[in-house]
Amino acid sequence: MSSTTTFWQDVLSKGFRHIAEDLSLGQVQELFHTYSTHNYKPLPINLMRGDGIRVWDESGNEYLDFIGTYSATAHGHLNPTIVQALKDQLDAIAVTSRAFYSAEVGLFCKALADYSDLQMVCPMNSGAEANETCIKLARKWAYTVKGIPNDQAEIIVFQDNFHGRTTTIVGFSTEPAYKAGFGPFTPGFKVVPYGDIEAVKAAITPNTAAILGEPIQAEGGIIIPPDGYMAQLRQVCTENNVLLIWDEVQTGFCRTGKRFAWQYEDSKPDLLAVGKALGGGLLPVSAAVGTKEVMDVFQPGDHGSTFGGNPLGAAVAITALAVMETEDFAGKSERMGNLLMAKLHELPYEQIVEIRGRGLLIGFEVDDSIDTYKLSGNLTKNGILTKETRNKTFRLTPPLTITEDIVEDAVDRIDQAFRATLNG
Ligand SMILES: *Cc1c(COP(=O)(O)O)cnc(C)c1O
Repeated sequence: MSSTTTFWQDVLSKGFRHIAEDLSLGQVQELFHTYSTHNYKPLPINLMRGDGIRVWDESGNEYLDFIGTYSATAHGHLNPTIVQALKDQLDAIAVTSRAFYSAEVGLFCKALADYSDLQMVCPMNSGAEANETCIKLARKWAYTVKGIPNDQAEIIVFQDNFHGRTTTIVGFSTEPAYKAGFGPFTPGFKVVPYGDIEAVKAAITPNTAAILGEPIQAEGGIIIPPDGYMAQLRQVCTENNVLLIWDEVQTGFCRTGKRFAWQYEDSKPDLLAVGKALGGGLLPVSAAVGTKEVMDVFQPGDHGSTFGGNPLGAAVAITALAVMETEDFAGKSERMGNLLMAKLHELPYEQIVEIRGRGLLIGFEVDDSIDTYKLSGNLTKNGILTKETRNKTFRLTPPLTITEDIVEDAVDRIDQAFRATLNG
């Protein structure tokens, strides 16, 4: 990278990948330190290759990816069927303006609506955008259908929520680190404790437009609500003409052993935010999905995104859905999740205070005697990539394509990492 002109020429002649492959871990860290904002604190591993559940760093060390890009690589890295669909689409057209029609985007919206057992789709890119879209839909529905006075709509959200990082969304986060320094925040949100139906009932007013929640609070530490709670929320919403919005950006698409985590109870939403795994581990694809009554409030000009709804993303997402369905991802997730939890329960460490999860959205919580930074390091040394979320809970969200052998191998490695942490 001696002279800039040479660098641009190298990018074109050598190819960018070859330039990237030549860098050491130290050089990569230096680039991040100097040129990338410091809004993440990565572990010192430079991932250069992926295949299924396995990833490799620049020295060829192999790891099992148990973060799974926070569940975005549900199909594993570079799933060959989805990669082929992407390549095929690249022979035709990739990105079009929403000023025109695209057959691919139309088919994608129908497929996602059908898959979700809802009627219409508003395609976006990130999970945060999907939630922002749901918030806008709920507010406009409140004013134009429910008849709430202008600018008075309230949305009930939950303690320890995670819905993304936009200014509106962090404004109703209860995690100080997510919001400090970013105010003033958007009004119109009421925070109540998660899992307490009476608190929800007490928070409802004639101006309540919607309840926005996660069926399992993943970032919040894999918090599963009490049995019956999701159905109670649905009932409260129906009785009060309030929309139920489930954020299934992380829990959706078979992660918890069903297509969507709301399906564990009678709690079908009016609006659903999806993302992450919808992109097949290849591209950012998200959406708000909903009933016709709600989705119909959007008129031309009300909302949009340049890349939201493009043929390449549509081809990838629809193929991602097809793979999930034909390869029984829901069943796999349930079986492998149960096996993984059972094996974790067999570990002899009293420092593991709880193992929580549904399907392959699993967390194990350790007590205060465990240095989580050290355990993370030992997990990495033993070839398991994962990181703790809040509450000293380590998240296990591997690709749903994981096999029995790999589950057993992984638990052995976790066992070794524990032993190293306790002995050192
Ligand atoms: C990851 C996540 C989001 C945000 O998605 P981005 O694509 O990072 O914007 C929103 N909600 C939940 C539940 C998530 O896990």
